[in-house]
Amino acid sequence: MIVMKFGGTSVESAAAIEHVAQIVNERKAQRPIVVVSAMGKTTNRLLEAARLAVGGKREEALEKVASLREYHHAEADDYGAATLIDQHFDELSELVRGLAILGELTPRSIDAISSFGERISSRIVALVLGAKHIDSRTVIVTDDRHTMAAPLYAETYRRLKDAPWGDITVMGGFIAATMDGVTSTLGRGGSDFTASIVGAGVDADEIQIWTDVDGMLTCDPTVVKGGRRVKSLSFAEAAELAYFGAKVLHPSTVAPAIEKNIPVLILNSRRSHVAGTRITAEGPVTKDVAKSIACKKTITLVNIQSTRMLMAHGFLRRIFEIFDRHQTPVDMIATSEVSVSLTIDNTDHLDAIAEELREFSQVDIEQDKAVVCLVGDNIRWQSGVAHRVFRALESVNVRMISQGASLRNLGLVVAQADLVQAVSLLHQEFFTEVDPEVFE
Ligand code: ADP
Ligand code: ASP
Ligand code: MG
Repeated sequence: MIVMKFGGTSVESAAAIEHVAQIVNERKAQRPIVVVSAMGKTTNRLLEAARLAVGGKREEALEKVASLREYHHAEADDYGAATLIDQHFDELSELVRGLAILGELTPRSIDAISSFGERISSRIVALVLGAKHIDSRTVIVTDDRHTMAAPLYAETYRRLKDAPWGDITVMGGFIAATMDGVTSTLGRGGSDFTASIVGAGVDADEIQIWTDVDGMLTCDPTVVKGGRRVKSLSFAEAAELAYFGAKVLHPSTVAPAIEKNIPVLILNSRRSHVAGTRITAEGPVTKDVAKSIACKKTITLVNIQSTRMLMAHGFLRRIFEIFDRHQTPVDMIATSEVSVSLTIDNTDHLDAIAEELREFSQVDIEQDKAVVCLVGDNIRWQSGVAHRVFRALESVNVRMISQGASLRNLGLVVAQADLVQAVSLLHQEFFTEVDPEVFE
């Protein structure tokens, strides 16, 4: 069996879905399980509708839902999907009306709303393919941390093993349910994660992530164009790139694949003849230092200084306890005896965190920063990488540098305004002359 995941742009229209059907049918002998995202930007629209509804803008919210309904009808009625679309949108409209009355949006209701995209798209794609449909909420079981639920693997794998797979089966990505059957989601971009959970659960031969780019590129195309396709990566490199912002792969995707040692491929649904990127346990043997540059476009730098803590132990523990208590992951850190600089992505609890930190230290917060990460297994074996980085970035003010404990990642914090320049200079330095075996 193989798992084939198609993202939002790959199923955004009737034409796109027919193209997907062609790609899937060509691989029918491998008994594909097709995991699909919501059509186009549906998830964003659903969340907008939910926010409008609780923000006292009931009519605007319902208009959003109505225009989404029209969009689905326009693209899928020809395949006999009109009734199922109406059934789902009737239920969704009810939910939005309910939210408007309650005036409150809980993580659980966010999941209820945002699940509709995949619930509908997966049924439409199943119709177009004439394939079996399985509701992901009956097989992917998660904890109840709504909007970023984690799979309960033992139960999920058990259900996946026993599921009644067809020759071709279609499921929605992103959506799942708790043990009690309450709808949950795996976090934004989570359909990739669904694909790898399913792949691991059925011991698939391959997990294919079909998207709108030729594969993992040597830099983020939304920041700097002209990156090359990376033909192969190790699991560790892919995980690092995904974590530090390469949106083409959800950061959790790699873990289930590693566990069962299943290759993950990134492929372009618009250019299916391109070989894409192959991600396996062992990366290719190459002399190139780095494989790609990832970036996070908006991060916050927190500088913590405490002269009182000079020579005292427990400084770091106190700091991390605070971030931990507020469920705020720290991405990069650099320390000296009495000062610590760290970066965070999620600033929801920053005020509370800063207040607690100020009880024993001086805190200075810098917004509008970006992280740039040079990633490659070879970074750890090569000397002079940092020297090359700083020489290339002579004209850019680097606020912080950290070589990850994994040693396959060299991370830099720069001002957001310098991001494009920093990425293009690094790209020039590390990807002008490269091994054609690994890069195209
Ligand atoms: P999908 O809807 O198929 O899941 P996403 O938008 O989530 O697609 O991911 C694909 C996008 O990831 C690309 O269009 C590209 O803009 C972005 N991206 C960021 N970094 C990279 C990278 N290093 N290589 C390829 N794509 C990247
Ligand atoms: N539709 C979901 C999202 O937009 C999941 C996904 O596309 O991977 O986040
Ligand atoms: Mg995605």
